[in-house]
Amino acid sequence: MLGKCLCSDIEFSVDIQTGSFKIYQCHCLLCKKQSGSSANSATIIEAAHFSWIKNDSIKIWQKETGFSSHFCANCGCPVPNVFAGKYYWIPVGLLELDNKLDAIKVVANFCLSSKSSWHNVYREADNFDGLPDFKTILELLS
Ligand SMILES: [Zn+2]
Ligand SMILES: [Zn+2]
Repeated sequence: MLGKCLCSDIEFSVDIQTGSFKIYQCHCLLCKKQSGSSANSATIIEAAHFSWIKNDSIKIWQKETGFSSHFCANCGCPVPNVFAGKYYWIPVGLLELDNKLDAIKVVANFCLSSKSSWHNVYREADNFDGLPDFKTILELLS
């Protein structure tokens, strides 16, 4: 599956079975600002299932707490980033999903204590007021 930013300066490919494609939404204040919306919609995959096609124009902004935003220097789109050495964070809005949209499932919502009033949460997901630990997040998405 291909992913690109708005201007196509950044392109990547993700090797995932569409039938098992699980995503989360994070409603924390940082993710709202980073996405410009009510929540980030993202997933985390093992680095072995990710490859860059074009990534020459990525800029990185990092907060003192460690939160970082990686984005296309040309169009400003949030783009994937590697973390813990062996995982990639994928903002799913960049994926070229076409007609495979039904295969995507929101399995979890994080940081619902700061949820925007206009955002309806998928009730069948695992919903958390805060942010669970990384191990739990990986289990939810696997
Ligand atoms: Zn771009
Ligand atoms: Zn967040």
